[in-house]
Amino acid sequence: MSDSEPTEEEQQNMSPEQVAELQKKNCVFCKIMAGEVPSHKVYEDDKMMAILDIYPAVKGHILVMPKKHTQIMPLIPQETLSHIFKNVKYLSRGVKQGVPSTKTTIFIANGGVAGQQSPHFLFHIIPRDNGDGLDNFNPPTKNISQDELLEPLKSSLTKMMQSQLQQEGKVLAQPPNKDDLAKIIDQNPQLKEAIINNPEQVKKEMETNQKLKLLFQGVNIDKLSDILKQIETAKKTLAEQEESTKKEEEAPKQTLPDKKKENKNLLDNITNMFTK
Ligand SMILES: [Zn+2]
Repeated sequence: MSDSEPTEEEQQNMSPEQVAELQKKNCVFCKIMAGEVPSHKVYEDDKMMAILDIYPAVKGHILVMPKKHTQIMPLIPQETLSHIFKNVKYLSRGVKQGVPSTKTTIFIANGGVAGQQSPHFLFHIIPRDNGDGLDNFNPPTKNISQDELLEPLKSSLTKMMQSQLQQEGKVLAQPPNKDDLAKIIDQNPQLKEAIINNPEQVKKEMETNQKLKLLFQGVNIDKLSDILKQIETAKKTLAEQEESTKKEEEAPKQTLPDKKKENKNLLDNITNMFTK
């Protein structure tokens, strides 16, 4: 392959790999990394590099990027991305102390439409101070219905995180469905007792106990407490009735099925306790 630049026609016939290779060859940041273009490096390790921006917004404006040429964030290996993001706060702190400045703006333009100008993924750390004259990202607000987007976004984010966590062998923490919650309560006598006898305490615990909070998300604890009380009372009555039926063999038996039915209705009721 010759060193001369490919013509426009040649470029159109290139494979995606060839295009990426050409981009990398022309990438000023890759040239900086290779030492072919001078720069002011302020930090470097095996995965990332930070340099002073040659067109700084203010004094101390730096660019942080992965060492390996990658055009967009989704293509950066997870390990490298984690390394970079994990260390952003330290780099930001370093900038604040080194400049010095009071705060920083950390900025990523993710794609051309979003203002990405460089073919090499990077983010900006810009030192900030009162009256520095820089614009904050403060677009005019619009009157947009939140309800319309809530469900599609929630569903899309949940699906995305579910598939991601599955790949990592983890599961997304979600509140149990009604039947599962009823089972969980039934299998935990202490929890059941607490809900029946001390709903206020349960509500208080939910403020700090993430597991409880997740378990009872969207559940009206007072209503749940009342329903459980009714169920327990009905069970007790039923047990007493069965006991007395055994003793009084001659007693009319038609009351028993009715009681059982009533108890069944109460158990069914547990699935209706989730309305706020
Ligand atoms: Zn590059």
